[in-house]
Amino acid sequence: MSNPLLEQHELPPFSRVSPADVEPAITRLIERNKQATEAILADHNRYHWDNLWRAIEQMDDELAQAWSPVSHLNGVANSEELRAAYNACLPLLSEYATWSGQHSGLYEAYRQIAEGEEFATLDAAQQKAISNVLRDFRLAGVALPEEQKQQYGRLRKRLSELGSQFSDNVLDATNAWSRHVSEEELAGLPATALANARQAAQRAGLEGCLITLEFPSWYPVLAYCENAALREEVYRANVTRASDEGPHAGQWDNSAIIKETLALRRELAHLLGFANYAELSLATKMADSPAQVRAFLEQLSRQSRAQALQEWRELQAFAREEYGAHSINAWDVSFYSEKLRERRYQVSQEDIRPYLPITRVLPGLFAVVERLYGVTVREVSDFDSYHPDARLFELVQAGEVIARFYLDLYARAQKRGGAWMDNCRDRRVAGARLQLPVAYLVCNFTPPVGDAPALLTHAELTTLFHEFGHGLHHMLTRQTVASVSGINGVAWDAVELPSQFLENWCWEREALALISGHHETGEPLPAALLDKLLAARNFQSAMQMARQLEFALFDLRLHSEWDAAGGTTVQALLDEVRSEVAVVIPPAFNRLQHSFSHIFAGGYAAGYYSYKWAEVLSADAFSRFEEEGIFNPQTGSDFRTHILEAGGSRDAMELFVAFRGREPVIEPLLRHCGIASADAA
Ligand SMILES: [Zn+2]
Repeated sequence: MSNPLLEQHELPPFSRVSPADVEPAITRLIERNKQATEAILADHNRYHWDNLWRAIEQMDDELAQAWSPVSHLNGVANSEELRAAYNACLPLLSEYATWSGQHSGLYEAYRQIAEGEEFATLDAAQQKAISNVLRDFRLAGVALPEEQKQQYGRLRKRLSELGSQFSDNVLDATNAWSRHVSEEELAGLPATALANARQAAQRAGLEGCLITLEFPSWYPVLAYCENAALREEVYRANVTRASDEGPHAGQWDNSAIIKETLALRRELAHLLGFANYAELSLATKMADSPAQVRAFLEQLSRQSRAQALQEWRELQAFAREEYGAHSINAWDVSFYSEKLRERRYQVSQEDIRPYLPITRVLPGLFAVVERLYGVTVREVSDFDSYHPDARLFELVQAGEVIARFYLDLYARAQKRGGAWMDNCRDRRVAGARLQLPVAYLVCNFTPPVGDAPALLTHAELTTLFHEFGHGLHHMLTRQTVASVSGINGVAWDAVELPSQFLENWCWEREALALISGHHETGEPLPAALLDKLLAARNFQSAMQMARQLEFALFDLRLHSEWDAAGGTTVQALLDEVRSEVAVVIPPAFNRLQHSFSHIFAGGYAAGYYSYKWAEVLSADAFSRFEEEGIFNPQTGSDFRTHILEAGGSRDAMELFVAFRGREPVIEPLLRHCGIASADAA
């Protein structure tokens, strides 16, 4: 019997994918790729773009095409059988990635191309692809002498154990704590949060309500619960997880893991010839050096600090006048902030919904894209689908189809939460033909009820634009080498530029006229509602900025200057950062670093700054549209040429400068956040 995952298709054969086909197909393709790679290396003694790069890219694309529908269906149409098949393949794929990423014969073969005569005849994208792959080989320790290579392997292995112990501790500490309360003790909570707490109690076989350290459970207590003693108890339990403080002090304590992780990361960086781990992290990013990132973060802090302090004083005054509170404890900040927000803006996402029916939003989004980039979007009715909600569209330019995307909008059982864009096909030259890019765009909006269309909140609208921005980066690419095509090969700290950038149109009157229209009357979003929305957008934005900068600076300095042998503790460094940038200084028992999984168990070590970095890029890119008109076709065309079409084929800074005419500046972000820059004052 034939296995559809082993056949070549223009689009995935969803309806024919059976869980039983998955593991045999993936196993066979990996095995074939390994053998074919060895055969290619053995068959030639001169390696070229065609006999090496193209051949390997073709094989890896066939594997990616087999995996793509499996991974997509696992996210949007999950079943027990499919999940088992998916999970069985994960270690196989990761083993294959390690095998090829550490293959010294392959490294030498690519190096031969880079150092040979052919290199000068390759185009910029091909050269970039080759230099990326060599860089990644070096960062994986392949170029090291044998003894150091083994040490590299030992360090990596231990670091991966430490990362997983760190998150296990956080998980165990999170699960270990709960508080059984009566409904009266939770006075002030919104109905949904209360229902959630009741349900948690039921699941645990208890009467009344249960508060846990899951975000949807503890956060509403801090933000809305009238009972200050309970807020304090929940706060303390949350910020001391997996540490030497709080209700479970010393159990699941991450202190030693944090120290060992930092020491080993430093050793790993030294082994690869970097002064510290932050330099190693930045080797693949848009930012040049730890010093540059630190200056960037400190500049943002200097510019927004006065306003953050002002927002903090306003909150203190409000708490004093309305609640007789003479000081604000850390566990009261969210509570008073919510009260102040309600007082000032009185706008609810529910008021916006009737003006944002999907039947208006989607054509509106496509109209925005057409005005900006001159491409039209057209729905395809006949295709191999996996669910009635899934739709297929194509991007058309001058009568020609240039890309396709699947759109899957609504929440349902068997679908993972959140919103995302994923590659289905990369744009590349495949033999004699051009393979068009295909994207998956997935959201989890509230499905339509009865005959009415689905009605979105403004937050959902922004999410849709965000993901479509990623999608355009993938679909409008002009690259033909897979590893630098679309979002592939784009530096981590630049990849959110096109997505955050497109969100801006959700806040512009001129664009909202295209996007919004009451589902019964067709009336666009009223100006008064938009004004409230705009005003509420920047509530306490400088205080939020200060908090993000505290995390980012702590992460950066921890991985650049902190040394376990140096005598200062991790806590002392965090305290120092806080004294410089924080507005609200947490109590001494706060141990947030012990559950900071982004940097100790995720991929964000010396990379937390990326969030702010990408925001600066997208705000500054958009400011050119503010200067030249948000629908200026020339500006749109420039953005398309320099950013969207180029993908990972050139350095992100080079591309940004080509579009903006200069390096990025922080002022547009401050302005969009409603922060009056200290220089201007
Ligand atoms: Zn994103």
